[in-house]
Amino acid sequence: MEEFYKSLDKHVESLNYKFQDKFSIKQLLYDDIMLVLQDGWGDSQLKFWVNKNFKIIKIGDQSVVYDIKSNHPVVRHENLYTKIKECHERVGHHGRDKTWIEVKDQYGWVQLDTVKLFISQCDVCSNRKTFPKPAAEKPIVSIGYFTRLQVDLIDMRSIPDGEYKWILHAKDHFTKFLWTYPLQSKEAEPVAQKLLQQFYSFGAPRILQSDNGKEFVAKVIKVLTLFYCLFCEI
Ligand SMILES: [Zn+2]
Repeated sequence: MEEFYKSLDKHVESLNYKFQDKFSIKQLLYDDIMLVLQDGWGDSQLKFWVNKNFKIIKIGDQSVVYDIKSNHPVVRHENLYTKIKECHERVGHHGRDKTWIEVKDQYGWVQLDTVKLFISQCDVCSNRKTFPKPAAEKPIVSIGYFTRLQVDLIDMRSIPDGEYKWILHAKDHFTKFLWTYPLQSKEAEPVAQKLLQQFYSFGAPRILQSDNGKEFVAKVIKVLTLFYCLFCEI
């Protein structure tokens, strides 16, 4: 949140001075707008601007400042982060346009630049862009079912489901059939355990490959071998 407001301040400073004060409505200005509308307070320039853009709506015993143009409540500068975050999450992190529509549907006096800035700093959106691609870069030939199993880990640490912070993604290269498993850690042991369950049900592949690197595959294979040995002893 701190980072968002720092960047927002920088953005406002870069604007023409005429727009700086009114880019977002800080609490002090909000109180002044209320005074103008309720008590006719303020100089003529302020009164003109306030009467042109705002009105008061009574909700229960509370007075709320509404933006006349959009007919929606004004979001105070101090609440911008929370309100945009709510809208962005409601549309499932689906980019700028959907978030902007959601914001405009509910609130007044929020600028598109503020929404853009929020999204540019969203951890969930930026992590999505760096998800490992399940397919390998060079063309791979598979001659049948379960010849090659592509195994990758998807980092979900920014939106964990309780203790589960990783998704193990396994794909048969020939049939494109895929399996996914929730994981609490990306250690080789839990990965191997999930793969072993799969091998018992569907059979073991001849080749195990991963974009997470040879070292990762080697560790997983080492644990798999250990499990197999234990199984043999029983
Ligand atoms: Zn996002």
